[in-house]
Amino acid sequence: MQTRRQFIQKAGLTTLAAVNLPFAESFSGSVFSKEDKILRVAIMGLGSYGTRVAEAMRDCKRAKLVGVVSGTPSKIESWKEKYGIPAKNCYNYENFDQIKDNPDIDAVYVITPNSLHKPYAIRVAQAGKHVICEKPMALNAAEAKEMVAACKSAGVHLLVGYRMHFEAKTLEVVRRQRAGEFGKTLFFQGLSGFIIGDPNQWRLNKELAGGGSMMDIGIYSVNGARYMLGEEPIWVTAQEVKTDPIKFKEGVDETITFQMGFPSGAVASCLSTYSLNNLDKFFLNGTKGFAEMQPSTGYGPIQAWTNKGPIEAEHITHQTTQMDEMAQIILEGKKPIIPVDGAEGLRDMVIIDAIYKAVRTGEKVMLV
Ligand code: NAD
Repeated sequence: MQTRRQFIQKAGLTTLAAVNLPFAESFSGSVFSKEDKILRVAIMGLGSYGTRVAEAMRDCKRAKLVGVVSGTPSKIESWKEKYGIPAKNCYNYENFDQIKDNPDIDAVYVITPNSLHKPYAIRVAQAGKHVICEKPMALNAAEAKEMVAACKSAGVHLLVGYRMHFEAKTLEVVRRQRAGEFGKTLFFQGLSGFIIGDPNQWRLNKELAGGGSMMDIGIYSVNGARYMLGEEPIWVTAQEVKTDPIKFKEGVDETITFQMGFPSGAVASCLSTYSLNNLDKFFLNGTKGFAEMQPSTGYGPIQAWTNKGPIEAEHITHQTTQMDEMAQIILEGKKPIIPVDGAEGLRDMVIIDAIYKAVRTGEKVMLV
């Protein structure tokens, strides 16, 4: 299977082959019945990841793709045909506020470039629809706070597309960590990177991306450190390295190394880069054992092992599980093992703001 990183390197590709893995019960063992309500979802932003989510949703039992929001009429036409989407559920970026009058759509999944997450998520919330938003949820913590407030006052859910929070091997490592099987976990290492291709893509545009590798891929190590250690960091330090200032302009980070300190005394040491491939590894070390995952956040299959041996679990397309689980969170108030709400996304944005500040100032930045 092509990895996300390989995919992005081949800039310009807009379609993906369907990933038709058989649907099994969700990781939590939920069994779905015909009477269960279905979350009816419109995807906004029909790019590479939007397409991946749409393909994965073919196998969902609790979520269904029923609508689209796109600025490209030809994409709307092809998605209507490919996914059986009715014309009345198709919108563009000018008129999608009218979705408020559409009783056949429950939620909108915002899968646009990062800078559009905040304005579009807020418009979706104001139209009275639940918001699912891709990572990073915003350009910074201030924006993320606005989104959380807007969704709260509109009375809608705000969920962030943290697909790893539903991945079986990840959850097993987290379960063992919480059960104390590794003893006191005092060290986490997160390595996240890929070699980015086309220099003209939005990911290398500060206005659209909000930064560089840190916003796009380093966020996995930030988020992973938090769920693997089960604590929130209290300080960060960070250093930036740039080998290509033409491709990675001012405000677009190529490589950042960063460290985080946690209340228990645990430390995390992480690398985020747009200049190395095959960099997708988590390592957690405790006084009684360790867990290692590689790949740890790619599209999978994820590989995980501990000092006791490999962790086995069936690979299910991440986005299929994610959307079925998110449907249950929204429709039934199910509590995920690792949160995926706006507050969770905001925590990552606060830390990323602090990492950028630490890079600028060269100083240790306190988070509490
Ligand atoms: P993409 O460039 O392939 O798609 C972006 C889509 O947004 C395109 O359809 C584009 O037409 C549309 N768009 C709307 N307004 C635009 C504008 N002003 N400028 C540029 N494009 C505009 O990007 P992608 O890889 O699909 O990423 C989209 C989002 O999904 C990003 O926030 C990214 O971080 C996230 N993502 C998440 C994962 C994951 O595993 N969770 C993986 C890939 C991407």
